[in-house]
Amino acid sequence: MIREGERKMNYNITTIPGDGIGPEIVREACKVMDKVGVVFGHHFQYTEVLMGGCSIDAYGVPLTEETLETARKSDSVLLGAVGGNVGNSRWYDVAPNLRPEAGLLAIRKGLNLFANIRPAYLYKELAEACPLKKEIIGDGFDMVIMRELTGGLYFGERHTEEVDGVMTAVDTLTYNENEIRRIAVKAFDIAMKRRKSVISVDKANVLDSSRLWRKVVEEVAKDYPEVTLTHMLVDNCAMQLVMNPGQFDVILTENMFGDILSDEASMITGSIGMLSSASMNESKFGLYEPSHGSAPDIAGKDIANPIATILSAAMMLRYSFDLDAEANAIEAAVQQVLTEGYRTGDIYSEGCEKVGCSRMGDLIAERITK
Ligand code: NAD
Repeated sequence: MIREGERKMNYNITTIPGDGIGPEIVREACKVMDKVGVVFGHHFQYTEVLMGGCSIDAYGVPLTEETLETARKSDSVLLGAVGGNVGNSRWYDVAPNLRPEAGLLAIRKGLNLFANIRPAYLYKELAEACPLKKEIIGDGFDMVIMRELTGGLYFGERHTEEVDGVMTAVDTLTYNENEIRRIAVKAFDIAMKRRKSVISVDKANVLDSSRLWRKVVEEVAKDYPEVTLTHMLVDNCAMQLVMNPGQFDVILTENMFGDILSDEASMITGSIGMLSSASMNESKFGLYEPSHGSAPDIAGKDIANPIATILSAAMMLRYSFDLDAEANAIEAAVQQVLTEGYRTGDIYSEGCEKVGCSRMGDLIAERITK
């Protein structure tokens, strides 16, 4: 595991290709990282493990303790995707905790990944896919949603009972100040690597948990005088995302608000094959994965878009290893192939050159420079 402020030459990465297109896209991300290694003088050592349907086939469970331990001991984890067609009875005619996707929840819990980071970036070349009007898109947008992942309404006590003859369901939304502080620190750290603006999203006009959220976020902000902090109510934020997305840099928010807003933000980019994500714990350790699933409909055909996974690898370099120049080099190479007109099928448009998954990986790797 990397300690705060530490930089090194050798990095141990656990790779979890998973199911469907997972092995194809992870292969391309490793290809690009290897080129970064050559150009910048690092060595990325990969340990490949099974998770999801392939782990069920091999071991009968979606995640083994050994796999979790391998991930825990490494510097970071790169994941493709898990899961298959729900028609696959071998994986799905079983209890929910034995299905492929249960591996995802178990690894996030096992590694204590409480901070979910999802960028939403609009490439000028792909602006046609954005469902917003041109005048709203303006010069595009480039934001990151920092979502608290292990607290709040989804993890609070819940029950359903009959009260005075009426069925009544209760869900509890709980946050303590430590849970808020640690996610706020992550958001401000990330803002320091970006345009130094945090918009903290809550519902402080109604919820006590949001009022505590606001208070703690303001305390954390005092340690980051260079970062501008603004508060925004969640209903307003949902509107602002489709009215003026260019105003956002880092959005910091709790679990349920983040669940909804991050999906909204990703949809306005219009390109699921381009969206990266990360989940991190208190140290610099993270699990990096594309936002999309295992796309079983196109698996094994060499037509998947590997860019979301390649950009997830760039996030790993930036956030887990503090290799900012190397991350920038990957993002610049992705930008360059798009500018040159290369597209996988999912982002193809008239006049571009259609390429497969492995060729896209080659093109990006070839364009990595210092
Ligand atoms: P999906 O994201 O896998 O696919 C949705 C659509 O987008 C499909 O048409 C697919 O072909 C396309 N697509 C997705 N990624 C693409 C890429 N990189 N390049 C080109 N096209 C791409 O979602 P789904 O079909 O709802 O789910 C398929 C499986 O993935 C299910 O088993 C689901 O549970 C699982 N899943 C896993 C994760 C994860 O591992 N984190 C996330 C979501 C879904």
